[in-house]
Amino acid sequence: MIAAEQDKNFNNFLKLIKQALPKKNILFDPLSLYSYANDASHYYLVPKLVLIVDEEVEIQSIFKSAKKYKIPLTIRAAGSSLSGQSITDSVLLVISWKWRKYKILNDGNEIELQAGVIGKDANYYLAKYQKKIGPDPSSLDFAKIGGIAANNASGMCCGVKNNSYHTLKNIRVIFNNGTILDTSDEVSIQDFKKTNKFICEKIIEIRKKILINNNIKEKIQNKYKIKNTVGYSLNSFLDFEDPIDIISHLMIGSEGTLGFISSITYKTIYEDPYKKAALCFFSDLRSAMEAVLILNDENISSLEFLDATSIKCAKKELSEFLSQEINTYEHCLLIIDLRDSSEMNLNQKILEINKKINRCQNVITYSQFYENDKYQKIMKIRKSILPIVQSQRKPNFLALLEDVAFPLESLPQGSFDLKELFKQHGFENSCLFGHAKDGNLHFILEMKFENENDKIKYEIFMKNLATLVIDKHNGSLKAEHGTGRNIAPFIEVEWGKEINDIMHEIKQILDPEIILNPDVILSSDKFIHTKNLKQITEIDIHLDKCNECGACERICPSYGLSLTPRQRIVSLRAMNFIQKNNKTKIYKNMFKHFKYYGSDTCAASGMCATVCPVGVDTGKVIKNWRIKHKSVFLSYIWNFLSQFHFMIHFFGKLYLKIKTSYHD
Ligand SMILES: Cc1cc2nc3c(=O)[nH]c(=O)nc-3n(C[C@H](O)[C@H](O)[C@H](O)COP(=O)(O)OP(=O)(O)OC[C@H]3O[C@@H](n4cnc5c(N)ncnc54)[C@H](O)[C@@H]3O)c2cc1C
Ligand code: SF4
Repeated sequence: MIAAEQDKNFNNFLKLIKQALPKKNILFDPLSLYSYANDASHYYLVPKLVLIVDEEVEIQSIFKSAKKYKIPLTIRAAGSSLSGQSITDSVLLVISWKWRKYKILNDGNEIELQAGVIGKDANYYLAKYQKKIGPDPSSLDFAKIGGIAANNASGMCCGVKNNSYHTLKNIRVIFNNGTILDTSDEVSIQDFKKTNKFICEKIIEIRKKILINNNIKEKIQNKYKIKNTVGYSLNSFLDFEDPIDIISHLMIGSEGTLGFISSITYKTIYEDPYKKAALCFFSDLRSAMEAVLILNDENISSLEFLDATSIKCAKKELSEFLSQEINTYEHCLLIIDLRDSSEMNLNQKILEINKKINRCQNVITYSQFYENDKYQKIMKIRKSILPIVQSQRKPNFLALLEDVAFPLESLPQGSFDLKELFKQHGFENSCLFGHAKDGNLHFILEMKFENENDKIKYEIFMKNLATLVIDKHNGSLKAEHGTGRNIAPFIEVEWGKEINDIMHEIKQILDPEIILNPDVILSSDKFIHTKNLKQITEIDIHLDKCNECGACERICPSYGLSLTPRQRIVSLRAMNFIQKNNKTKIYKNMFKHFKYYGSDTCAASGMCATVCPVGVDTGKVIKNWRIKHKSVFLSYIWNFLSQFHFMIHFFGKLYLKIKTSYHD
């Protein structure tokens, strides 16, 4: 499409949107756009328009208008994705605070959750039934159900068995043509089958094609024995016969490319009340990974691995668990997490593990099994490893995270090969950690993307990584963080041509105009992973550590009213960059808006620092900003109030409500 036509289409789209959404939910001033330009990944795209969506009918209108004018749309829940799937340079649909309804069903055995419910809250509602949802990403405290399901996110205990795909009971979806399918409602199913007969028939055709081809069938079966979020959930074609079941399971892991998930009903998981964890240190990487093969069985809830670099980065947090013998240059750690419904059974499990530890080679030291506070502390450290390591990157460098899985028998050699690959590419400070029980390893590389050579270095690394993981070890290039932009060019490498074609057919059936999250999962651009890479500039000693993960957003009193701490930081970084690049008009506009949205409406209580994994206190930065920009009177008031954390929520909310109604 030529630029003039694109502009005309965009303007026509905007006209329709203005009739469908309240004015305050349509954002296109530079501050709003730049504050949504990131997710937690190494990609950066500034949207043209941000739409805050409150209701299903709004989404139906937006989809229909986008289809008419071929406007790309990206859905965003908490924006904590790590592969660039919740950002866009087109239109961003942000799920508002209103999507938080839930219903406990069948005595806590099932829970219906709207797309905007935070994962941790779902577990809070289920706690009195001794239940939890299956998916357990480390980001559960801030990620939302829509994003968790659309990424098929998993974590320490989830494995393959308890992810969204396997614990899905029902789903309510809005498709690109505005149709709603609610699988909990027989009338909705029959309506969908009638009005979308073509879609159902095509899905059945694909199923037949898969079933008559043994190579394809076997490949799909094998690929899903380990964690795998590369491409669409093709196992649905083997696991189900009915097109409705296939479509609903295809939505899991579809990363906003096939439709909008409005709500999900999960089958819940029993939450063991007794939990203990021990730390076992090994002399080297290979010994630790070989121990995984000895220790691993269904009695273990999780077996978390940290390499020497991860231990070194988390030295402060781990200090009370580190003994003299530990050398943070080569020793590796396995955290052995055991859970059970009775204390007696749990102690029996410990006895069995102790016997197995005796068979492991090169154990340096093995701690007791900790419970209660110490158990929680160990788990918190493990969950925070990513931001802890990221915060210690060199100035101006990004900490780039990748996520692969090996079949368990390949784990010792695979992890060794990964370390060699990092050395070959000059990533000496790389660190490796992850869910060893599932052969799922994450690694962090320090990178910067300032020139063409940086990009080429990255491109070659990714190519070699794909060869190592897929060709040599038959693993998955993405285990739990979704395909996104980073892995989109490798779908065919992972799955082969025939299956790659099937993925494109699925997209063609459900989103023929390619309006939903283009370049995510499937892209015609073989180099999409090397484009729109984030650049980090140093701006303030307090906030340079921020890696834009989004953990601080939910606790902020101004969430939903003005900017969140992460958005304040992202905006300050953008303003700094824009000012340096002499874009004075944009800078002035952003500065004017920042005064109200960034500064005046920040409670500056430091609440955000209490949940930030690396302790970034955005309030402190804003206080400094006020002084620098002479909002002295307000600074005094806020500085005084911020000393009373228990009062700040009350005053903060009251102030923001008054200011906002005045502003509106
Ligand atoms: C510190 C940290 C730790 C993490 N740990 C883990 C981990 O252990 N395991 C793991 O799997 N991931 C992890 N992640 C990645 C990420 O948090 C998860 O994948 C999470 O599930 C994303 O949820 P979100 O609400 O942020 O979704 P977003 O990032 O907003 O969106 C995710 C995807 O879903 C789509 N989407 C969102 N809502 C909808 C909807 N209603 N309908 C259709 N599509 C939708 C988006 O378009 C996007 O493609 C981590 C991230 C961080 C920053
Ligand atoms: S301030 Fe902390 S919690 Fe917030 S985005 Fe930055 S690193 Fe994450």
